[in-house]
Amino acid sequence: MIKKLLSLKNIRRLYAAFFLALFVILVGITSFRSMKGYQVSLFLELDPLVALSSFLTSWTVYKGLALSLIIIVGTMVFGRFFCSWICPMGIINQIAGSIFNKLRAVDLIKMNAYRTIYRFKYYGLALFLVLAAFGTIQTGLLDPIPFITRAFAVSVYPAVNYWSGGFYLKQPVFQGGFLLAAIFITVLFANRFINRFWCRSLCPLGALLGLLSFRPIMQIWRDTAKCNDCMKCVQNCHGACDPHASLRTSECMVCMNCISDCPENAMHYGLPKNASSVHTPLDVNRRRLIETAVFGTVMFPMMRSVITSKTAAQHSVIRPPGSIAEGDFLRRCIKCGECMKVCPTNVIQPALLEAGFEGIWTPILLNKIGYCEYNCVLCSRVCPTGAITPLTVEKKIGKPPAQKPLKIGIAFYDRGRCLPWSMHTECIVCEEVCPTSPKAIWFQDVEMQLRDGTTKVFKRPYMDPELCIGCGICENKCPVRDKPAVRVTSIGETRSLTNQMSLKS
Ligand code: SF4
Ligand code: SF4
Ligand code: SF4
Repeated sequence: MIKKLLSLKNIRRLYAAFFLALFVILVGITSFRSMKGYQVSLFLELDPLVALSSFLTSWTVYKGLALSLIIIVGTMVFGRFFCSWICPMGIINQIAGSIFNKLRAVDLIKMNAYRTIYRFKYYGLALFLVLAAFGTIQTGLLDPIPFITRAFAVSVYPAVNYWSGGFYLKQPVFQGGFLLAAIFITVLFANRFINRFWCRSLCPLGALLGLLSFRPIMQIWRDTAKCNDCMKCVQNCHGACDPHASLRTSECMVCMNCISDCPENAMHYGLPKNASSVHTPLDVNRRRLIETAVFGTVMFPMMRSVITSKTAAQHSVIRPPGSIAEGDFLRRCIKCGECMKVCPTNVIQPALLEAGFEGIWTPILLNKIGYCEYNCVLCSRVCPTGAITPLTVEKKIGKPPAQKPLKIGIAFYDRGRCLPWSMHTECIVCEEVCPTSPKAIWFQDVEMQLRDGTTKVFKRPYMDPELCIGCGICENKCPVRDKPAVRVTSIGETRSLTNQMSLKS
């Protein structure tokens, strides 16, 4: 009984439950803004594909990403254990598969047999790496750790909050959140047809780990002398890696189910022995691989042939404080959504096409939804790749005039919509909320004639571009709700040498 409880399969399940809980807690902690000391980006930093792709785009490895060496070396020794023991995306897909697929043994064997479409992930990986080598990081679109972090940040947690009302003071909203939720649900639903469809066919991290576990030191092996070809080892195989025949080590997720399911005690994990089965090499069509690389090479200049925030500054692409210059930002941001999740005002939103196709789901600030809190630097603390560099509050707000504050843009008045400027209505909201000291907004008292012929003194607001940091609270609080009378654009941002006003007062 105890031996059965302590089977490798059950130990794996315990680890999987622990890592899934850890992932949920770490992403959740960012909701409570109490992440001091916690490694909230741990899973992203462990991800070898994040490290490899950001290395290819920037030729540097951001400090936290050195942790991914643990997974790289571990995979070369123990096989693709990450997929069934640690990866929250793999574990959630496995749970979804177990719920959907209550099948007869014969159908389970059919479902868990190897299929040639499982090669597709290697071609996807090749495409992403070619694009990264050219300088555009798109792995975050399908890399499971950024994928699931983003899905939790912009759809799962807001949905849970909607029903429970417990996490946030205010219900968070995200542009395109429904699309991200729909993609996530579709991926989970795919398990209804093929167990772990995502992991077996699409996952570029699975492909990278598959390459690394091509010849692992420790591996699953079958004692051919004991095996009676009952195929029970295939029934619950996570990797669809043919454990009953010549095992495909690159597909094997070391789930240990075959060992527990074999009635003849013919399946083992460890150093292969003389009596063990032979292993099948990686199933990749070299011609298709070359075609994919050529496709990436052709696609890259096409992606660059459109105007993006990298080629010409876009007023709507306001990045979080501490962001590096736009070109480097797009080379580093993996679209994980950690910064969106942690922002207390919900101002950080996933971009749609504002920053071009390359910038899809990267963070931009939408002041209609929130504003950048003056004393907050949280987003700079969670970014795993250095797209947003760590800030201190002192560095962010500066000490004018000696030490300049960090600017993310400048606010402009739309005088045709501003109440004191055009509607003969008193309003000082923007000046009251402006957090800088001295305030960036100042007034000029102007006596104006009203419609009935009487006169009245109004305070007309003006902007001091030297003092404005672009926090956007004035835009967010402006009583002209649909299109505020004061709006922030990215010009003047500290991170750019060129996105500046060429004439100054
Ligand atoms: S620094 Fe500003 S943008 Fe970043 S998390 Fe804080 S409030 Fe949000
Ligand atoms: S900028 Fe935001 S979305 Fe991009 S890598 Fe950093 S935390 Fe993730
Ligand atoms: S954006 Fe508005 S509130 Fe913020 S510093 Fe500039 S003027 Fe003040």
